[in-house]
Amino acid sequence: MKIKTRAGSVVFENVTKTYGLGAVTAIDNVSFTINPGELVTLLGPSGCGKTTTLRMIAGLEHATKGKILIGGKDVTQLPATDRDVSMVFQSYALFPHMTVLENVAYGLTVTGVAKAEAHEKAEEGLDLVGLAGYGRRLPSELSGGQQQRVAVARALVLEPEVLLLDEPLSNLDAKLRRQVRTEIRELQQKLGLTAVYVTHDQEEALAVSDHIIVMNRAVIAQQGTPRELYEQPASGFIADFIGDANLVGAELVEVEGDMAHIEIGGLRQTLPHRGLGIGPVNVAVRPDAIELSAVNGESGQSSLKGHITHAAYLGNQMQYSVTSDIGDLFVIDPHIDAPIATGDEVRIGFSGRGLAVVPTDE
Ligand code: ATP
Repeated sequence: MKIKTRAGSVVFENVTKTYGLGAVTAIDNVSFTINPGELVTLLGPSGCGKTTTLRMIAGLEHATKGKILIGGKDVTQLPATDRDVSMVFQSYALFPHMTVLENVAYGLTVTGVAKAEAHEKAEEGLDLVGLAGYGRRLPSELSGGQQQRVAVARALVLEPEVLLLDEPLSNLDAKLRRQVRTEIRELQQKLGLTAVYVTHDQEEALAVSDHIIVMNRAVIAQQGTPRELYEQPASGFIADFIGDANLVGAELVEVEGDMAHIEIGGLRQTLPHRGLGIGPVNVAVRPDAIELSAVNGESGQSSLKGHITHAAYLGNQMQYSVTSDIGDLFVIDPHIDAPIATGDEVRIGFSGRGLAVVPTDE
């Protein structure tokens, strides 16, 4: 194979970026390490600073303070043209008057690579993204998903130390998004590339990443593997951003080793205390961790009860809105054969999984 992989690391050391002479702090003293061969996603709500972070790796923006290293080399002051990275943009940014092959070879030819060699590499790049034989077409003769794959091939032939992807799927429809994200992930793993991927779609981030850095208001809110973020959210914000969560007020009443006894609306649960002490806490409860059962006749027990205010059938699950003493709850229930009707009274319970204690102060 002519195309080589040179996976580099990316390190941010106390990086701050301000715009408008300090009026806007887009990134506030952020540090992280991306290891060679990893796909790391920068995830967060609009305006959190993820695009600015990606553009600083690319050299399209420069840090106001701090240090950026790529492949162990300090690139903080280097312009984009002197960095070993290539970027895939959400708009594809293909040249419409050039053939697909010329588009993929373009970056090589402008850096002085002989045409024959550039075209050979471009053919190989197209082959890698499953577009062998499409080289003679114009971009307008390809579908959106195919154009995005051309953009990926164009980035790959430059043999970057780091591949940057800026919301690469946002111009595609939902089904195609799933397919193309799988292709990008498979290619990244096959070639062992270091990739930094920006998205605001949490499902996409969970699906493609080795590691996710969740940003909020210019800082890192939490980073970890998809499973760590989903199962051990550090805050109510993370619990709600990575998947849905009901944030419920509770009381931590006793600590025993790593575990704590928690009272939630009169129900007692034993959960990891995660460093929190006795007193009020919040519990992030996944919608599928709530179990509802119909209240049959008179029941004097002091269990937690609620009322169904809305029931929706979604084919493979029921979704309920429930009012209760612990607040309004959103519930997902796979038992579609015995749906509960709007207005019914229900008893509320929790399954063992899908509950995490988080601090109240945010
Ligand atoms: P989105 O998902 O909407 O693209 P983002 O998380 O990528 O958001 P950034 O584009 O990095 O966020 O922006 C972070 C902050 O910096 C925002 O408050 C934004 O308004 C501001 N900002 C970004 N670019 C500039 C600029 N060129 N001049 C001034 N402010 C900017």
